[in-house]
Amino acid sequence: MVLLGAPGVGKGTQAEHLSKKYKCCQLSTGDVFRAAKSASSDAMTETMREAVERMKQGKLVSDETVVQIVRERYDCLTCGYGFLLDGFPRTVDQAKALEDMLAELGVSLDAVLNYTLDTDEVIRRLSGRRTCRACKATAHVIFNPPQVEGMCDKCGGELYQRDDDQPDAIRVRLKAYEDSTAPLADYYDRKGLLINISAEGSPDTVFGRTETLVDKRFF
Ligand code: AMP
Repeated sequence: MVLLGAPGVGKGTQAEHLSKKYKCCQLSTGDVFRAAKSASSDAMTETMREAVERMKQGKLVSDETVVQIVRERYDCLTCGYGFLLDGFPRTVDQAKALEDMLAELGVSLDAVLNYTLDTDEVIRRLSGRRTCRACKATAHVIFNPPQVEGMCDKCGGELYQRDDDQPDAIRVRLKAYEDSTAPLADYYDRKGLLINISAEGSPDTVFGRTETLVDKRFF
């Protein structure tokens, strides 16, 4: 399955719940670039350095680089329990590249979960989001504040605000989403793969909706 939706709708959280429940392999291209950002700059290729720079500004990384990142992780696409892609594809060209990869591997895409949320709510979620440097868990300064300010409830790690959750980068990300990613909903709808899911409410509420729709489709 592919998870679609604007930045901040909670795709990463839903992907974690889904991979736990259905045992499928989860690949988040955003996590790959964030991990690269923490690597020492000597260990980074020029392509990766450029990708990290674009990510910090909220811009999309080039299709070529992202497709290469996914190609290097083919194992995930052939997992016996299936795969979950979070944050990929984000453009129609990436979707076509994914189709080619899946055809090479003899695997099919079964569903695309499209999380929908009002833009004002997306901005509220993104601007208050804090992320743990150690375990990547997220908190929210208003909706889910940590017990101790600046400290992750799960592991005690330091909470920080992602570069791309700063106001200027949020604007760039939402524009990239509208221009390049939102058209994918139509693209997959025409293929009969799209399942729209409201991302309103708590992560558990959204997961309840997700489970119901996924079980209806597959079981
Ligand atoms: P995410 O965590 O999915 O919001 O991704 C964080 C950032 O990584 C994005 O804003 C982009 O800069 C980059 N990125 C992740 N996935 C892709 C993709 N499929 N295409 C282009 N850029 C991506």
